[in-house]
Amino acid sequence: MVKAEGIHKFFGRLHILRGIDLEVRSGQVMCVIGPSGSGKSTFLRCINHLEKIDSGRLWVDGHLVGYRQRGDKLHEMHEKDVAAQRRDIGMVFQRFNLFPHMTAVQNIMEAPIRVKGESRQVVRERALQLLDRVGLSEKVDSYPSQLSGGQQQRVAIARALAMEPKLMLFDEPTSALDPELVGDVLDVMRQLAVDGMTMVVVTHEMGFAREVGDSLVFMDEGVVVEEGDPREVLTDPQHRRTQDFLSKVL
Ligand code: ATP
Ligand code: MG
Repeated sequence: MVKAEGIHKFFGRLHILRGIDLEVRSGQVMCVIGPSGSGKSTFLRCINHLEKIDSGRLWVDGHLVGYRQRGDKLHEMHEKDVAAQRRDIGMVFQRFNLFPHMTAVQNIMEAPIRVKGESRQVVRERALQLLDRVGLSEKVDSYPSQLSGGQQQRVAIARALAMEPKLMLFDEPTSALDPELVGDVLDVMRQLAVDGMTMVVVTHEMGFAREVGDSLVFMDEGVVVEEGDPREVLTDPQHRRTQDFLSKVL
């Protein structure tokens, strides 16, 4: 579903991603850990067209991200095609970024109506189902300010799912939450994984990575230092940098 080959990304002279090779198969959950500044968010943002890669190739669902290939040549994609690719990818950030002036259900309905042009009735039906799925049937008409952080984050997940994405990207979705609210959000994500969603999850929740992840990637300084079965990486890391990192966070 996602394939990265030799991804490099610079910000000015800063070489942030230094050759990332990764693959996430359909229906699998890849968790990504690593120190602050190692390039985890940047990598997710490249998958979702929020950043452009400087070299390497990235495929989502068999399609080259951001480029058209003719023969050996790559041509930059038109805006319209970029928008179409992004539609298939849902992203959830650390901060929930809900529209403050819209209720939960309105937040979820906004993109499918505006971007996909689906009928209001169909979209509302789906939004209500999604709110039920994330355990918020009673909060349909609540505004973000009336919801806890964990509830807002669950609305944000429902909002991403409303576009019926093929892939979900999570960038530290529980890091901004009070500890007692983390569990509900992780439960929703766990259920999503069980339902077969392909997911890339940047997280500090090692328990989640261990239980739900099909693979665990440790990134440092813009490279993948280690990748493997989460249980193995967490209990028996092979690389010194992984060992050092885990000794600080576990
Ligand atoms: P954290 O765990 O703190 O979220 P991260 O692994 O997600 O860290 P990134 O956000 O990907 O790290 O940042 C990697 C590096 O790239 C950092 O040094 C950051 O300062 C730099 N960086 C990120 N975005 C930009 C930008 N738009 N312009 C310049 N530098 C940037
Ligand atoms: Mg980050």
